[in-house]
Amino acid sequence: MYLYNSLTHKKELFVPNDPNLVKMYTCGPTVYHYAHIGNLRTYIMEDVLEKSLRYLGYNVRRVMNITDVGHLASDADTGEDKMLKGAKRENKTVMDIARYYTEAFKADCQKLNIKWPDVVEPATNCIDEYIHMVQTLLDNGKAYFAGGNVYFDTSTLEKYYVFNDHDEEDLAVGVREGVEADTNKKNKNDFVLWFTKSKFEDQALKWDSPWGVGYPGWHIECSCISMKHLGEDLDIHAGGIDNAFPHHTNEIAQSESFLGHKWCNYWFHVHHLNTNDGKMSKSKGEFLTVSLLQSKGYDPMAYRLFCLQSHYRRNLVFSWENLDNAAVAYEKLVAKIATLNADGAVDEAALDALKSRFVGALNGDLNTSLAITAVYDVLKAKCNDATKLAAIKDFDRVLSLDLIAAAEALAKKQAEEEAANADPEIDALVAARTEAKKAKNWAEADRIRDELKARGIEIIDTPQGAKWRKV
Ligand code: AMP
Ligand code: ZN
Repeated sequence: MYLYNSLTHKKELFVPNDPNLVKMYTCGPTVYHYAHIGNLRTYIMEDVLEKSLRYLGYNVRRVMNITDVGHLASDADTGEDKMLKGAKRENKTVMDIARYYTEAFKADCQKLNIKWPDVVEPATNCIDEYIHMVQTLLDNGKAYFAGGNVYFDTSTLEKYYVFNDHDEEDLAVGVREGVEADTNKKNKNDFVLWFTKSKFEDQALKWDSPWGVGYPGWHIECSCISMKHLGEDLDIHAGGIDNAFPHHTNEIAQSESFLGHKWCNYWFHVHHLNTNDGKMSKSKGEFLTVSLLQSKGYDPMAYRLFCLQSHYRRNLVFSWENLDNAAVAYEKLVAKIATLNADGAVDEAALDALKSRFVGALNGDLNTSLAITAVYDVLKAKCNDATKLAAIKDFDRVLSLDLIAAAEALAKKQAEEEAANADPEIDALVAARTEAKKAKNWAEADRIRDELKARGIEIIDTPQGAKWRKV
């Protein structure tokens, strides 16, 4: 499989350290509010990546954190803790907020067929691991204590901007507009590993540490949770593109300084879902959730298809019109699959040919829109229905669009509707009219049509014969 690696800025053949196990880490949600559909785009594409790897024959162990402490309102180590903000907004405790929104996130994942990772670890579970990493960084001279906080010293690194050559003046923490410079920092990019002093003394969750009572910085959790469950060598680290800087940049800085060797080989970043007026974000107040889409009558699978129709490395623009198009495409696709007849033997050679197109799409940097085209190709293919159904079922292991289940449900509903409408007397009259037409007895055919019309029945002549419906 070829994947674009943000670290090297090119598509590379994916080769895991251990051929029998892919170690994958994905940044999880900050559980201070519902996930918006932009966040969920990232989780959908990460889910497709994991399922593609499994489909291609790899074992995968995937770990995700739940940020329930330490993510401040600004990525620049300033502002209030987002969890505390959520707790104040709802007049609840931080742990209540974390519990509630973790469950809400889980429910959203279920609705969108996003597989729950093998390990999901709340950040508050790993305080000992953070303290150990911070202490080691201090012992190795990679970190320093100043003004009550422990900072990572970026001047000890050979290269800090690992993902691209940022314009330092634009991106350097502490010099962005509206971000106050932290005078404790020796270098403007240094970041906090452990806080004991912040402007917000009412931080709800605090722990004892060698540096005083305090709480961890946001970046340290992902390094430690990953190493706790996946060891020192990571194959893939994933997240939304906004996480590349400073979050992932700082994760690499502290992890590699702690380990003394390279940490993660492939960095997978999903680009943003935007609205016409910019990035979707929670800080803007109103935002779209999957429950809101449902309340407007959209099947979550329509949103999943909407995401899969575009490449993860392109920004995706959300509009109701675009979502409507995906919803119609989903309904049509399911309706078409519902007409397939499962009887007959699967043609294995034809199935292999169909699969190879699908695999080719996944292998080309997870080209999900081409993978969806492969589904349409199945429907057009010159093979029997049983083979088509086998191919679609197989592809849906990755796409997770519930294609077979939705088609079966539709076929069942249609059969039930037909059965509910069955009326032998009307069937007999329709048949008599057909006979009259065959005998060119137009007067009788018209009489029957009028009689049925008077009873509220309309006859519809179709290529398969006359049908009727109540009007
Ligand atoms: P958060 O809960 O804010 O920590 O974000 C959860 C995930 O969603 C992270 O991987 C972010 O990079 C990602 N994310 C945030 N905003 C968007 C967006 N508009 N589109 C896609 N992904 C996003
Ligand atoms: Zn992270």
